Amino acid sequence: MPILPPLYYLCSRFPLETSIDHIQSLPKDYAKQLFLGRDWLCEISQHLFKQSLQSARVGGSFAPICKYPHCLEKFRAQLAEKYPKAQPERRFMFVFDLPEHGILEDLDMQRCGICEPCETKYLEMLNEIKRFAWNRLPVKFLNMTWEDLRRK
Ligand SMILES: [Zn+2]
Repeated sequence: MPILPPLYYLCSRFPLETSIDHIQSLPKDYAKQLFLGRDWLCEISQHLFKQSLQSARVGGSFAPICKYPHCLEKFRAQLAEKYPKAQPERRFMFVFDLPEHGILEDLDMQRCGICEPCETKYLEMLNEIKRFAWNRLPVKFLNMTWEDLRRK
């Protein structure tokens, strides 16, 4: 059933308190997969944060450092605004909940001070992570591939 991985994903988005309250009604194996999957989504969330801060850009041809250092500050400002510390749940970046342009969504790119190469790199990174996460979603939650699920 190809609908199952997205369902697990949706269940993972509940606040942890809610999941714990309902976990007794689930068979142990389901509960285990759910929490392991959630943990994996948390890992992706942290990865997304790091990448959004452009910390992977160390120079060289594969990860060039922006020639406008203020770009990094602008990215930081976007993260701080859209994922404020005061709301811990909102700091969890659920990968498939992010809009097409991620933290740059609704931003006036002409005026925000982020250069075009940085914007492009960010959007490529976001798409790449979404694709990566989507391919592994059924593996992480159900120990199955999309192919396995389609054959059922
Ligand atoms: Zn830049």
